[in-house]
Amino acid sequence: MSGVSTRADTARFRADDPDILVTASLACPLCLRSEDVAWRLDADDGYDPSVQCLCRPCNERWRVYLAPQQELRIGLMAAHAA
Ligand SMILES: [Zn+2]
Repeated sequence: MSGVSTRADTARFRADDPDILVTASLACPLCLRSEDVAWRLDADDGYDPSVQCLCRPCNERWRVYLAPQQELRIGLMAAHAA
């Protein structure tokens, strides 16, 4: 291991929340902004699904763990963004 500690959080949105609340829950832990956050769903065979986030201005990376309904919700957003 590199010894670099990785921030990890659990997502706090509900599956029926609007997109803006979903992205707000992925806000950067340092600058608290969500509009500059690049995120990618990391489904990992459906086991322990999470979103890998990157705040470009802060160069901060972190991971947000998802409940199954949240994974579906984020997956929908990713499909729309693609
Ligand atoms: Zn930031």
